Amino acid sequence: MKILVLNSGSSSIKFQLFDMNASQVLASGMVEQIGESTSQAKLTTHAKEDFSASKPIATHEEALETMNALFAQSGLLNSLSELDAIGHRVVHGGELFSTPTLIDQSVLEGIRGLSALAPLHNPAHVVGIETAIKQSKGVPQVAVFDTAFHRTLPQHAYMYALPYELYESLHVRRYGFHGTSHHFVSKSAAAHLNIPYENFNAISLHLGNGTSATAIQGGKSVDTSMGISPLEGLIMGTRSGDLDPAILFYLHREKGYTIAELDTLLNKQSGLKGICGNNDMREIGLMIDKGDEKATLAFEMFAYRIKKYVGAYSAVLGRVDALIFTGGIGENDSRLRTKVCEGLGNLGISIDTNTNDQRCKVITPIHTQNAPVATLVVPTNEELEIAQQTQAVLVK
Ligand code: AMP
Repeated sequence: MKILVLNSGSSSIKFQLFDMNASQVLASGMVEQIGESTSQAKLTTHAKEDFSASKPIATHEEALETMNALFAQSGLLNSLSELDAIGHRVVHGGELFSTPTLIDQSVLEGIRGLSALAPLHNPAHVVGIETAIKQSKGVPQVAVFDTAFHRTLPQHAYMYALPYELYESLHVRRYGFHGTSHHFVSKSAAAHLNIPYENFNAISLHLGNGTSATAIQGGKSVDTSMGISPLEGLIMGTRSGDLDPAILFYLHREKGYTIAELDTLLNKQSGLKGICGNNDMREIGLMIDKGDEKATLAFEMFAYRIKKYVGAYSAVLGRVDALIFTGGIGENDSRLRTKVCEGLGNLGISIDTNTNDQRCKVITPIHTQNAPVATLVVPTNEELEIAQQTQAVLVK
């Protein structure tokens, strides 16, 4: 069974082709800078053979045609109609979608209808899905939602303390994101520890350019740090995470910031970048080594915010079986993991410096021998999770 996973953005499409029978990635790649004269497309096969195209790609339609041509050159696929299914990553499923969903016209309209909640993502997903439907002629398309895993949050966790009417009329509530990743790594961790998923309690930390923490109880998300949008919660590469909303009124009154400017400030100019001018944790690590004070501060703020969430979610869960680190930073940055776990012995969290310093390309336990909480580094694989969920919808 061949499944293509597509992640369509406004100017790029990421793709991965899976052979589900062999549990293998056949190829992965990306079309970038759609709509510009400098567009690029690249495909890398499992055997590390590269195929690329550099030419202006004006639309998503041309982007998929270019991807298709690269697949044909690689000999992996002659046409999208040879696929068994296409799985689409969709950021926002709102309150409409709580499971992976076979796409028909009404589902497409549902995703489009949620655009006000995810203006940067959902409209681009709709264009990607419509184009894929057109070009793959009858191949089933499945939407896998980043919010779906968090649809089990209890109401006391997802409500904001705003007038209730705003929830009823405008659906203002916490939705949470990175659900595909939290679900994938928590299932993998439970299997690794031989704990049935429905009994598994964990705190999952997805630490990449975007960052979020999730409390998982009995295999279900019961709280998560991102909110109505991916802006709330932990400090991120360029996003502020939690702050006092009164700062926005203050900036508006004192400096005349508009809504659009505040949006850019909080989403693109804040977080690690806002504090030390860099949002790449590898480079921040090098800056710290050279004694850069702002980089050190950014790193300490980043770790401190995570630690606060670990404490809060330990209280939410009562019993924690595992603390999970994933994402580019969570999987690779041992210094950050040490900083987060420092002093958490009273919560049962204690990590072994030797194992923590190893490179963790597979699930790696990094806790000390008798620690009550297993601390695990679990490489995430959102595309594989999307492919598996897509397959599960088809065989239902
Ligand atoms: P992601 O969004 O999951 O791809 O993660 C991106 C983040 O992971 C960036 O901040 C990278 O600097 C960081 N990252 C990737 N590799 C490493 C590494 N070896 N050490 C520290 N941070 C890393």
